[in-house]
Amino acid sequence: MIQHHLSDEILIAYSAGTLPEAFSLVVAAHISLCDECRARFAAFEAVGGALLQSAPQAALSSESLARTLARIREGKPVERPKPKAHGIFPAPLAAYVGGGPEAVRWQNAGGGIRQAILPTKGPGRARLLYIPAGHAVPDHGHRGLELTLVLQGAFRDETDCFARGDVEIADPKLHHKPIAELGDDCICLAATDAPLRFRGLIPRLLQPILRI
Ligand code: ZN
Ligand code: ZN
Repeated sequence: MIQHHLSDEILIAYSAGTLPEAFSLVVAAHISLCDECRARFAAFEAVGGALLQSAPQAALSSESLARTLARIREGKPVERPKPKAHGIFPAPLAAYVGGGPEAVRWQNAGGGIRQAILPTKGPGRARLLYIPAGHAVPDHGHRGLELTLVLQGAFRDETDCFARGDVEIADPKLHHKPIAELGDDCICLAATDAPLRFRGLIPRLLQPILRI
């Protein structure tokens, strides 16, 4: 049962195509796990489509119209393989990784934590985080937006507990220390658009290496 969802603001930006790729990946992964956000997203898409339809139409030269129609007539439908979920990885994420958790090339991030930065374009960064049960992420603040989607296990911080499917939205107002709950090791997909603000010296020294 998912308790923590995406905000309207984020879903609207996603449907308008204005979110950087790193955040879009987290949103797509959450939507694929969450019926509630998928329904809200569909509603925003419908509103966006209606707005486009009522927008003043641009004049199209008769030539370009003929070309477009010819292209449609000649074109064969493109058969794209449908992305599939791999284990705990929802389809949008599995497509980035090329498989499930076994396909991830983890990098040691210190304190038992591992990370893998995903290849996204544009501003922001998306990464997978592996936090062994009972381990903590060094406490930190945020200079921008951080979206964290739980894929396995759970973590707890100053605000609440987050389990599979939950997404935590952190902004500059939040300073937190996420700790993985006992039980399964915690695997998360996280996106940020600005370096985190660590208090401890060691995390600060590691920051440029870990690109966090
Ligand atoms: Zn949701
Ligand atoms: Zn954070």
